[in-house]
Amino acid sequence: MANQDDQFKKVISHAKEYGYVFQSSEIYDGLSAVYDYAQNGVELKKNIRDYWWKAMVQMNENIVGLDAAIFMHPTTWKASGHVDAFNDPLIDNKDSKKRYRADVLIEDYCAKIETKIEKEVKKAEKRFGEAFNKAEFISTNGRVVGYQEKINTILSRMGKSLENEDLADVKALIEELEIACPLSGSKNWTDVKQFNLMFGTKLGASAESAMDLYLRPETAQGIFVNFLNVQKTGRMKIPFGIAQTGKAFRNEIVARQFIFRMREFEQMEMQFFIKPGTQKEWYEHWKETRLKWHLSLGMGQDNYRFHDHEKLAHYADAAADIEFKFPFGFKELEGIHSRTDFDLSQHEKFSGKKLQYFDHEENKSYVPYVLETSIGLDRMFLAVFSNALQEEALENGTTRTVLKLPSVLAPVKAAILPLVKKDGLPEVAKEILEDLKWDFNVIYDEKDAVGRRYRRQDANGTPFCITVDHDTLEDQSVTIRHRDSMEQERVKISDLKAIIKSEVEVRTWLKKMK
Ligand code: ATP
Repeated sequence: MANQDDQFKKVISHAKEYGYVFQSSEIYDGLSAVYDYAQNGVELKKNIRDYWWKAMVQMNENIVGLDAAIFMHPTTWKASGHVDAFNDPLIDNKDSKKRYRADVLIEDYCAKIETKIEKEVKKAEKRFGEAFNKAEFISTNGRVVGYQEKINTILSRMGKSLENEDLADVKALIEELEIACPLSGSKNWTDVKQFNLMFGTKLGASAESAMDLYLRPETAQGIFVNFLNVQKTGRMKIPFGIAQTGKAFRNEIVARQFIFRMREFEQMEMQFFIKPGTQKEWYEHWKETRLKWHLSLGMGQDNYRFHDHEKLAHYADAAADIEFKFPFGFKELEGIHSRTDFDLSQHEKFSGKKLQYFDHEENKSYVPYVLETSIGLDRMFLAVFSNALQEEALENGTTRTVLKLPSVLAPVKAAILPLVKKDGLPEVAKEILEDLKWDFNVIYDEKDAVGRRYRRQDANGTPFCITVDHDTLEDQSVTIRHRDSMEQERVKISDLKAIIKSEVEVRTWLKKMK
């Protein structure tokens, strides 16, 4: 655990030191769970957003984009169920006065049991060597099976209690499991209460005419209320999707995991409108497609897993998370939800307008079913960034800090470095910079010895360093150094663009989805 904490602290301090993420309003001691993206962070975030947008919108003829406003008519949130049901169960510890999400306390308890399973697996792996069959071991080893049954029993009871709004049983479960406050060790808990996560605000100048509004807690509703406008003007035929990226706001009860759980964050969502009865196939299709998108970035197959929901949200008939191995363990990165016709039917009811699709093949109208994929951009940022940050032992006995970002996402694609600050080398380096910047985000760096500049770019996540030396003046060639392998090769200046392009362009990476 201490190791995980240390690794996470390193991630946070590296994100600040290299201009990726700053605490919001830092000079006023910050604002809890709100963060700003700095010069490198904003580029990484934009590149992740673009990578998602291209995969979802550009590569799919039947998916189009939308940018709906953050403010929406307040009835939207009555219809969607958020006013009545967008709650988290909170519990306070009477001694430490700390507030927790009751479900998270229970999930963390289960995560600890899971760590025990992992330990047993590691031990057995050592014992059996090459003959080890992990799947068989997990399904037959008495101790592991016992642990897994315990987890299943706990989560299924919690799921049922939350679904039935039986908050007394959620508290009883916490007490039976003897869960203590992680800060104080105290088991002196208050009752569990529901807490609505929406931020309220007002629209209008005078107190009498002002209207109560909410900051949207998800981008999805902007898509639902525009469903018919887009379908008609875009002449879309079912099945089709509408994709949107944008800010969402939630007054999270506990928010202390850096950009994992923020009060203001960005979502990338796609609602896919389908014929009723086909939701099972589409659910499987989008689970698989979205996992492929993640895997295309090469961040390690073992770092992902699906988690099927026990407790379904009020709108869903099936739901799964794609979980990622963050520095603090496996947690939700993306949700795939089969939302049925809940949202469109509710908006029909509350607005009095028909939100139906006329199916020419079937010669009838119906309210489409919806399959949703929903991923947090900031959470994806944290996944990419924390996975990339590595301390690497080198052959010469030293270590280097390297940020092995997928090069398609890296903020800066190449640094151009004159070996020395004289003899006409800076001029040539700047000429290269001037040419490459039409196509890529590139920088010029002449300060310090070249070895130190390489290290700086490694830590910054820059995939290529291009060094101009005295030979360059003779042979129009430069040394290109690859961040991950540290290999260097001599190439013609005229080939640089093609070399960089083939490695960083979206085509190269997205093709891996196939
Ligand atoms: P959690 O269980 O972690 O609170 P959720 O199930 O409420 O998440 P959804 O409503 O399904 O999340 O939202 C879709 C995605 O939006 C999540 O998979 C996550 O990536 C992102 N997300 C949700 N809440 C936050 C937040 N507070 N900060 C950052 N990202 C978030």
